[in-house]
Amino acid sequence: MALKGLRIFGGTHMTNWLAGFPDINTTKCPRLRGILLNVRPCGHINSAVPIYVSESPSQVFLSIMTTLYNHVLKNGIKSDEWPKLFIVMDYICNIDRTKAAQTPLPLSPPFDKLFISVSKVIHVFHHRNHVCPECKTGKYNPKNISVVYPKLKKRKTEAAEQSNAWLKRFAAVLNSISRNRQLFYLARQTFHRNKYLYTKSGRA
Ligand SMILES: [Zn+2]
Repeated sequence: MALKGLRIFGGTHMTNWLAGFPDINTTKCPRLRGILLNVRPCGHINSAVPIYVSESPSQVFLSIMTTLYNHVLKNGIKSDEWPKLFIVMDYICNIDRTKAAQTPLPLSPPFDKLFISVSKVIHVFHHRNHVCPECKTGKYNPKNISVVYPKLKKRKTEAAEQSNAWLKRFAAVLNSISRNRQLFYLARQTFHRNKYLYTKSGRA
């Protein structure tokens, strides 16, 4: 099971996609290719989105955009603060180079330029794998977080990797059940993970 992670903000995206597949034949429909986790730096999982067929940049882009849009709307973040939001992912450079990511989206202004406005950096663990100057030292360099947040003691970019490691423990279960059950199982596991993290941090 391919599990990829990235880190971003808010939004309760979790059960929306379950309602999106009302009439699926549970034995003939394809299984998940992987699961994309959208995780906040504290470890809270914003969304766990199934990826089908292949891990294409377009599917990942759509998932990021949905979570980002929900987060900005829910928290009332103004457009002048969008550059302070960071998306951290291992291959965000490839997603940002797609045509959809570089042109304004068919949304009402200013949300059409939401994805263009936010900052995007490569995950620290994967940064050395990228060779082009833009990734090495340019706009995708993870050090850009420290430039925007100079008082931040530690760049907590590993939250998605940690959540990834947590979810991998359930890969055997997820691989042995049908798709609808996979989705249900995933939704419940994510819910309990978030609940556990809130309890642990004393916010419950
Ligand atoms: Zn790159």
